[in-house]
Amino acid sequence: MAEHVVIIGSGPAGWTSAIYTARANLCPIVFEGAITEENRQVGTLPLGQLALTTEVENFPGFPKGDLSHYLRSALDEENHYLADMHHQEGCSGPELMHLMRKQAQNFGTRIETDDIVKVDFSKRPFVLHSASGQRIEAQSVIIATGARANYLGLPSEDAYKNRGVSACAVCDGALPRFRNKPLVVVGGGDSAVEEADYLSKFGSVVYMIHRRDQLRASKIMADRAIANPKINIQWNTEVDEVIGDDATGVKGVRLKSTTGDGKTIDLDATGMFVAIGHTPNTRFLEGHLEMTSKKYLKWTVPFRTNTSVEGVFAAGDVADDYYRQAITAAGSGCMAAIDAERWLASQG
Ligand code: FAD
Repeated sequence: MAEHVVIIGSGPAGWTSAIYTARANLCPIVFEGAITEENRQVGTLPLGQLALTTEVENFPGFPKGDLSHYLRSALDEENHYLADMHHQEGCSGPELMHLMRKQAQNFGTRIETDDIVKVDFSKRPFVLHSASGQRIEAQSVIIATGARANYLGLPSEDAYKNRGVSACAVCDGALPRFRNKPLVVVGGGDSAVEEADYLSKFGSVVYMIHRRDQLRASKIMADRAIANPKINIQWNTEVDEVIGDDATGVKGVRLKSTTGDGKTIDLDATGMFVAIGHTPNTRFLEGHLEMTSKKYLKWTVPFRTNTSVEGVFAAGDVADDYYRQAITAAGSGCMAAIDAERWLASQG
């Protein structure tokens, strides 16, 4: 018999969809992805991108600091349960994701640690095939497979991820290690300018490292970067190595010229933000669902999570190359669950 709803993906979007559909008695199955070396290499292990980071400071409900005093003063004698929460200080990315997974499981979500590698949406029930050979029939599907940040691929960049190397200024820019310190942004497109502009609020100077002699960004964005006195564009250069040590993490970058003159320079910096785009995890969906030119899934109805196939919904970064935040992914996961539930109800 076909499942009511199958959710593909295990980030905030997938688990939120699972929590909502499980509570609506739809008995969801989540394919959370497989634990393989290939998935580790590309950064798509179960629990999503947030599991790759350390601290999460902007997901509501997890303030930092000792909350015992605040909670004590906020409660009356009866509300003892709040007093027990004082240990909850901030949250790490992996912790947050384990909590979401546990919450989905508590409501009866079935979890398969497996990748979906092939789909057939041409007829109903839909058919999904997993990497381990499972064949699953589904009345509705929620795709929440996310998008992974592109990195330069340098060993030194890998060594300092979460210790100065980041792919998300909005997520990490406000951390203490970056405040009033020189920072580096790699890239020359609109998102690189956005990241540099945002980081200029925190850093003492933001070096943009760009391989060419003009930015790829739109004119309005390029003008914004050039006009910002805190942004210093290093034209015709690329990062050759991230410099740092175990104790402090990133201390600078070595740049090499792209003009072939062999020149290198070292810049001091406590952070390197890589802004060279994202790759949505949609390869297995090519030819089955409409996508944008950058291979993100297309939402086909305004303010809904419908895709180009009726009964198939998309949530999170796999369809959103604009906000790319855990809370927005969770929000659209909730929307997809409600959209799927109402669509199933409409099918009788
Ligand atoms: P993802 O989190 O990308 O999860 C999708 C998962 O689905 C994949 O990891 C994989 O396990 C699984 N999957 C993929 N393909 C398949 C398949 N074919 N079959 C089965 N499973 C599959 N946001 C914040 O709000 N705050 C932060 O502090 C923050 N820090 C970040 C730090 C880093 C280093 C990065 C990379 C991102 C950070 N973000 C942060 C962004 C945030 O992590 C994402 O916006 C969010 O995780 C997107 O959630 P998602 O559910 O759409 O997908």
